[in-house]
Amino acid sequence: KSGFVAIIGRPNVGKSTLLNRIVKQKIAIMSDKAQTTRNKIQGVYTTPDAQIVFIDTPGIHKPKHRLGDFMVETAYSALREVDATLFMVSAEQPRGRGDDFIIERLKKSETPVYLIINKIDTIHPDKLFGIIEDYQSQMDFAEIVPISATEGNNVDKLLTILESKM
Ligand code: GDP
Ligand code: MG
Repeated sequence: KSGFVAIIGRPNVGKSTLLNRIVKQKIAIMSDKAQTTRNKIQGVYTTPDAQIVFIDTPGIHKPKHRLGDFMVETAYSALREVDATLFMVSAEQPRGRGDDFIIERLKKSETPVYLIINKIDTIHPDKLFGIIEDYQSQMDFAEIVPISATEGNNVDKLLTILESKM
């Protein structure tokens, strides 16, 4: 079993942190500063049964100038080549225009989109259901997986789900 998976989401939601945890080697640059990751960086997760190639996209947001426009298109073109997309959001912040911009593009995706709600360690568990409902009202996701990329909560479950769908 093998496949390609893209990780997409606003800057600072934790995409690089998750990728680094999954591939267990430092291949993406982690930073508090937005858009440190400027290129598609691939990491490979390998088990005896599966091989999943992950693609970390640059922070995708509404472009403010033509270069930004180009970067956004580069990131979205990567999505046409993958088997599944992980759309990562942060439980710490409410859904914003940056998320809605991405959602509008993901609605056109022909491959499954998984909603990954990251940073669940920062919220009271009672708040999770409301967050899930809010995103679900915007689009249908193949699967919704709440995780903490820093603490590792549910990351194994996410990998199991991805493996089973390859
Ligand atoms: P990216 O821009 O989406 O690649 O985000 P990064 O992986 O660079 O993470 C941005 C910041 O969020 C860093 O300071 C991370 O340590 C932090 N972060 C990432 N995942 C989590 C998480 O699950 N919980 C908490 N509390 N912080 C996180
Ligand atoms: Mg990053």
